[in-house]
Amino acid sequence: MKVLKFGGTSVGSADRIKNLVPLVNSPEPKIVVLSAMSGTTNNLVEIAQSFYSGNQQNAKQQLDLLESKYQDVIRRLYTKEEFYIQAKELLRTHFDYMHAFRMDIFTPNEEKAILAQGELLSTALFHYHLSELGIPSVLLPALNFMRIGEDEEPDLNYIEENIRLELDKYPPATIYITQGYICRNAFGQSDNLKRGGSDYTATLIGAALRVEEIQIWTDIDGMHNNDPRIVEKTYPVTELSFDEAAELAYFGAKILHPTCVLPAQQRRIPVRLLNTMQPQAKGTLISETVSGERFTAVAAKDGITAIKIKSGRMLLAYGFLRAVFEVFERYKTPIDMITTSEVAVSVTIDQIKNLDVIVNELQEIATVEVDKDLSIVCIVGSFSAGTEGSALKIFESLRSVPIRMISYGGSEYNVSILVKTEHKKQTLLALNDGLFQN
Ligand code: ADP
Ligand code: ASP
Ligand code: MG
Repeated sequence: MKVLKFGGTSVGSADRIKNLVPLVNSPEPKIVVLSAMSGTTNNLVEIAQSFYSGNQQNAKQQLDLLESKYQDVIRRLYTKEEFYIQAKELLRTHFDYMHAFRMDIFTPNEEKAILAQGELLSTALFHYHLSELGIPSVLLPALNFMRIGEDEEPDLNYIEENIRLELDKYPPATIYITQGYICRNAFGQSDNLKRGGSDYTATLIGAALRVEEIQIWTDIDGMHNNDPRIVEKTYPVTELSFDEAAELAYFGAKILHPTCVLPAQQRRIPVRLLNTMQPQAKGTLISETVSGERFTAVAAKDGITAIKIKSGRMLLAYGFLRAVFEVFERYKTPIDMITTSEVAVSVTIDQIKNLDVIVNELQEIATVEVDKDLSIVCIVGSFSAGTEGSALKIFESLRSVPIRMISYGGSEYNVSILVKTEHKKQTLLALNDGLFQN
């Protein structure tokens, strides 16, 4: 068994949906995980915003516009009347459901129910398309087996048990289709794995079923050495270790959901990143193999806040760091980077929901300074203690970039630096020139 996940662009139009058929129509069994058509989840977020603000008129217009896009898709996708009518009824059901939220009070639960509609639509439309072509497939409802616990983390044991039960409901098939991104929470309500979460669905299913390979099909030929949205002439990295891929995903390489590498890594299942528009391209293979390249790739994560906690009494004060970290733990706020000196410690966070209370509590034990609008730039490669010259090369490249924090030595394969977001582009370009131009 394999898992094949296709992202928003790969299902983004009737033609794109048709182009998936040769990629899934082979005798080997596979689970096909689909995202919503590109743009849909953003549209659904906007519709939810209108409902929140009580602007029913706006919500209605946005829903009508989205529905007309889907009408257009089904007109192009189906040739037989029977399948076109089935798809039309599907749209009616989902859009009526969404319109009905106008009558209701709107809370985060309603919002999540709306956000789930994109994947429910794309998977059903693809399933009907295969049926029209006479290709048998099974539509597996992800809400029957994908689940997050009270800590909002996926519950792999539950997923493992329940996806098997779900599969057992059908005679063996070669194409199982299911929704990415959506799940149920600990209270049984519709929920999701956060934006970009279809990748996570794919690796969770892959891990649950211990498949032989997880394929993430997208609109680019693998993980590039730098952010292709910002830097020109980037190139695909053919092999990455799980650790390297996890760092890049977490620190902003949008091609992968931030935490999706973990389930595959835990069960040692290779992940291949492939391009739907260029299926022959080699892509990137993520596995246990470490390439040993000195510099593999860089990525950047925005929206970072740095907190400097300064205490004159910190010198020799054991227990001080524990007191600091306990504050972040109390407010469930993960720390990304840390640097320390004798008199101060700086940490970075990206969840600022509880920033004010955190700062208030820290001020009881120290002087606190907060810096916003920062980016972490993460350089991934091989930096074991025995290798020399890597730091020199990195910082030589960055000679004209103002740096706020540096983290080296936390792991053998990551060096992170913190810069103002206004300097991010300059940083990525400088690293490209300094580390990757031979
Ligand atoms: P999908 O909809 O298939 O999930 P995404 O838009 O989430 O696709 O991810 C693919 C995009 O990620 C690419 O089009 C590219 O612009 C962006 N991206 C950012 N950093 C990288 C990187 N290092 N390598 C490849 N793509 C990247
Ligand atoms: N449709 C969701 C999103 O746009 C999930 C995904 O595409 O991975 O975030
Ligand atoms: Mg994505």
